[in-house]
Amino acid sequence: MDEKVSRNFIENEIDKDLAEGRYDHVVTRFPPEPNGYLHIGHAKSILLNYGLAKEYGGTFHFRFDDTNPTKEKTEFVDSIIEDIKWLGADFGDEVLFASNYFPQMYEGAVKLIKKGKAYVDDLSAEEIRAYRGTLTEPGKNSPYRDRSVEENLSLFEAMKNGEFPDGSKVLRAKIDMVSPNINMRDPVIYRIARMTHHNTGDQWCIYPMYDFAHPIEDAVEGITHSICTLEFEDHRPLYDWVVTELEYDHPPRQIEFAKLYLKNVVTGKRYIKKLVEDGVVDGWDDPRLVSIAALRRRGYTPESIRMFMELSGISKANSESDYAMLEYCLREDLRMKANRWMAVLDPIKLVIDNYPDDQVEYMDVENNQENPEAGTRKVAFSKVLYIDRDDFMEEPPKKYFRLFPGNEVRLKNAYFVKCVDYKKDADGRVTEIHCTYDPETRSGSGFEGRKVKGTIHWVSAESAIDAEVRLYENIVDEEKGKLNEDGTLNYNPNSLTVLTDCKLEAAFADAKAGDHFQFLRKGFYCVDSKDTTADHLVFNRIVSLKSSYKPS
Ligand code: ATP
Ligand code: MG
Repeated sequence: MDEKVSRNFIENEIDKDLAEGRYDHVVTRFPPEPNGYLHIGHAKSILLNYGLAKEYGGTFHFRFDDTNPTKEKTEFVDSIIEDIKWLGADFGDEVLFASNYFPQMYEGAVKLIKKGKAYVDDLSAEEIRAYRGTLTEPGKNSPYRDRSVEENLSLFEAMKNGEFPDGSKVLRAKIDMVSPNINMRDPVIYRIARMTHHNTGDQWCIYPMYDFAHPIEDAVEGITHSICTLEFEDHRPLYDWVVTELEYDHPPRQIEFAKLYLKNVVTGKRYIKKLVEDGVVDGWDDPRLVSIAALRRRGYTPESIRMFMELSGISKANSESDYAMLEYCLREDLRMKANRWMAVLDPIKLVIDNYPDDQVEYMDVENNQENPEAGTRKVAFSKVLYIDRDDFMEEPPKKYFRLFPGNEVRLKNAYFVKCVDYKKDADGRVTEIHCTYDPETRSGSGFEGRKVKGTIHWVSAESAIDAEVRLYENIVDEEKGKLNEDGTLNYNPNSLTVLTDCKLEAAFADAKAGDHFQFLRKGFYCVDSKDTTADHLVFNRIVSLKSSYKPS
């Protein structure tokens, strides 16, 4: 069979670079700012960079881009490391910090000054903005642009030594004030700011700007392909200018791809912050969100996320992916792996009138009908069971094949039962169903008598385990669209349903935080890692069994 391997455009570029001898190996990196949680978009970047390094037998670096002390918070460092490891991106346990390269960045700036390619400017921030021009108008040279190399060197050193107040001077690259690309109009590369940095403390009072720092970080680490998202496309000429002027032997190259967006899914920090503040969600790891921590807590697996990234592909054009595709990947991943056990989410008692009072029998049941390797378990069966409320109807419509007065169904893995009576409370709510069973019909007995059309699941009351189950819907109101006219989020008030009285079969007694299951006939569920305690099991519904997504 012919296998058609299609390469994405980044692989094509790398193939070319290797063929032309531009590089003889591949080094990629993932460089988050430690200023928030990672979300599914970052997972795309992590897996892309890690995947390329692996594919080409190269190296993957994980580096905190921590050159901007105002926005960074060390509290995010640990969660980011945990998320990257969990996704399976192996960075050899070496966490790199861009702030460790402050000396090289300073040296780089000095080198530019010596080459006549950078100058100290005394214009204020507003003046610099006014001199910069616009998309339609060229910029103007600063009156300080032609300072001598000596003067620039001594001023820059004095900036470093703290001799000037914050904001009074900047170092600018001397490129071209009439360039059609505004990023090339003598960009600021260093500013004075007395801020304490989490890594370097008060050692520096000047800090490099992102567009200057980033190419140096890449070059110092020997990165070959610096992969970023499309908004940096217009910055590429500056990236190239920096690595060329600093005369690195094998300068890295920047390649841009389109960010991952999900249709009707909130990823923006601003909206998530609001949801947290308004108490709509329970923190940034609420299972309805798509931070990596939230996806993990909900029950998504690294494998399902990797598969989703492969299916959604790498592109040069912005587009939105379907959340249903992520759900499909999860179902695919857990189909064989997760045990399929019985759970009754909205229980109603079913009493078998002709079953002996104190008898318990144990049925041998496969853990996963599609996967014999998952083995079997014993499932208790007794006179009093629980079934799901929606598996019984007093007055069924046509084609309802589950339980109703006079009808017979199979209890999954057990006997046929026939409904002979039921009880209701004062509000008309059914409280108890009475059945008789036929001892001849035990599952696996080879019974060849009459057939029944419906099979329902059940849990034996004498050994049932109590649990809370949380059902999630999209936090965005999909009918109304993501945003209101005033820019606020249109959220779905019914995105969470908490079921507190669920009954699970005894096998669940050993379930631990993070364990995955299929609840038979229901969906895939994961034991919540935040709220589960020794005597209170909490499950998150990851996805139901029904799918709206068909792989093409
Ligand atoms: P956000 O504002 O959503 O937090 P960011 O770009 O500010 O995103 P960084 O920490 O700077 O976050 O990003 C680290 C890397 O992740 C960058 O290379 C960035 O391009 C990439 N990245 C961020 N969002 C996405 C996305 N939606 N899809 C793909 N890559 C992304
Ligand atoms: Mg950022």
